Amino acid sequence: MTDTSNLDDVIIIGGGSTGLYTAFYCGMRGMKTKLIESDTELGGKVAKFLPEKLIYDIGGIPQITGDELVKQTIDQAAKHQPTIVQNEWIETIKKNEDGTFSLTSKEGMVHHSKTVIIATGTGKFDTVQPDISNIELYTGKSHHYTMKNPQQYVGKRVMICSNNRIGVDWALTLEGIAEQVYLVNNKKTFQNAADVELEQLDKSSVVVKLASEIGQLDGDEGWLDQIIIKSEQAAVEQIDVDHLLTYHGLKMNPTPFDNWGLETDSNRVVVDHFMATNIEGIFAAGDATSYPGKTMLIASGYTEALTAVNSAKKHLEPNAPSTVYSTVIYRK
Ligand SMILES: Cc1cc2nc3c(=O)[nH]c(=O)nc-3n(C[C@H](O)[C@H](O)[C@H](O)COP(=O)(O)OP(=O)(O)OC[C@H]3O[C@@H](n4cnc5c(N)ncnc54)[C@H](O)[C@@H]3O)c2cc1C
Repeated sequence: MTDTSNLDDVIIIGGGSTGLYTAFYCGMRGMKTKLIESDTELGGKVAKFLPEKLIYDIGGIPQITGDELVKQTIDQAAKHQPTIVQNEWIETIKKNEDGTFSLTSKEGMVHHSKTVIIATGTGKFDTVQPDISNIELYTGKSHHYTMKNPQQYVGKRVMICSNNRIGVDWALTLEGIAEQVYLVNNKKTFQNAADVELEQLDKSSVVVKLASEIGQLDGDEGWLDQIIIKSEQAAVEQIDVDHLLTYHGLKMNPTPFDNWGLETDSNRVVVDHFMATNIEGIFAAGDATSYPGKTMLIASGYTEALTAVNSAKKHLEPNAPSTVYSTVIYRK
């Protein structure tokens, strides 16, 4: 028998925009809720890919940065105080004889619940570490993997090291903020960069170093003073720098849907119009799902979350209303 003292009504796997909104709505439906996220930070792809980007296509919000959206969604999720577990990667899901589920994480923890909502996207993205010696001494202070909080670069000398269009985007964004921006690329071209971005780069004040690599970092207590650059012709240059941003791509760890016994289509979970999967009691929402007409958008994830939660509620209490109005629930 499942240990009922540790039994949630629902466990949400994934703390991206969809999982966080799911947690809020589970609370609104009066469900004892736990959310499990493998990353150190919540927000999923919105936090990873669009922290400073403006998002324009969410109903009722004319524009909002990814960071602000994540912050607001975390605040909303917290309204009913769900249990939020971070740094745990769910590896297995076992359906018990009594119909409950036991989820085991790679970290060795076991979680029990009556239903499961999968909001994992297609997996977890990790930053590819650059091959620069001693970089870890600076990471978090003057070396960064994302361009969060651009105000910290006001009046500073910033070097960006990347051969990707993300590096071009960061350089052009910081051009008007930093005192000087350097863009170091170990190749001669920028992967995936649009012509218009390269034209903007040409016209900008960004100093671009092609076919060049970072040779050495110099600084004190995590704060950079100088970076030594080596070019293809073996020329060496010392550049005064306050901050270094690196982007060498992301690697994806796919969520093991097949091991969980779920029917999949192109590594996404097949759902019906109730957001039900092929396993009774397991539902899914957001980028994790596959169905005809699926769109990979934040707002689609929210709508699917509502349906998945209402379906999970019905699974727990067949006589529960199919949906509820927040105006009624929170009426003063
Ligand atoms: C560059 C880019 C720009 C975009 N621009 C827009 C836009 O302008 N407007 C828009 O609406 N959408 C946009 N999108 C799409 C949007 O980002 C996604 O639709 C949305 O982030 C999906 O959210 P999600 O929560 O479903 O999945 P994700 O954000 O992928 O979150 C899933 C979470 O689950 C976690 N996870 C996965 N597996 C496990 C596991 N086994 N155990 C524990 N945790 C796990 C992951 O770590 C992750 O945090 C953009 C996407 C990209 C890449």
